[in-house]
Amino acid sequence: MTENCILIIEDEQEIAEILQLYLQQDGFQAAHAMDGRQGLQMARRLQPALILLDIRLPGQNGIDVLQALRAEGHWPVIMLTALTDEVNTLLALRLGADDYISKPFNPAEVIARIHAVLRRSLSSPTPTARTLRLGALSIDFDMHLARACPVDGVEQELPLTLTEFRLLAHMARQPRRCFSRNELIESCMPESDALDRVVDSHLSKLRKKLQMAGCGDLIETVRGVGYRLCSD
Ligand code: CA
Repeated sequence: MTENCILIIEDEQEIAEILQLYLQQDGFQAAHAMDGRQGLQMARRLQPALILLDIRLPGQNGIDVLQALRAEGHWPVIMLTALTDEVNTLLALRLGADDYISKPFNPAEVIARIHAVLRRSLSSPTPTARTLRLGALSIDFDMHLARACPVDGVEQELPLTLTEFRLLAHMARQPRRCFSRNELIESCMPESDALDRVVDSHLSKLRKKLQMAGCGDLIETVRGVGYRLCSD
């Protein structure tokens, strides 16, 4: 592995140039591939520390490229996505992408996310499957999946949006702890300037989906403070 080499697979020259500039200023070496084919070749040759992978590429799209990368090595991958690409973003996370950043992005935030992913991948060289059970709810953090397994009902996958899953997973890591709306925005919607009522709206939809699937009322509103997840 080339410790400070970041490979950018991105067909928009201008975006790639901006990223390269910021990466170099931060002490990284930046390499740029224009499409998936070239990207795969460069990944094999350069053995980068991390790959920034655009989801919309000519020819093989980012999802195909991610699958090919995953079949060959364990490079951490951050997807560059569009806000309208939620389905593909979710798919990419399920296929093992480590994080995603929506365009248009702030290059400084991309650098911060790269450092966060590199720290994570260094501290856990052999990722293990992580699941969590909370009442009738089961969460698979690696697969980005939440399932309802009610005692007297049908087991089913919850049809959650990316933001709903992030909110649920974030709160489930510390059940019973109360999270403020600000905390939830910072941890689960870092790419948006969401308002408190946007959090309320996501959580209200999430609460309904959990109830419909037979998980009961897991989300508790703590008046004047925020939200918490309880299994009773
Ligand atoms: Ca593109």
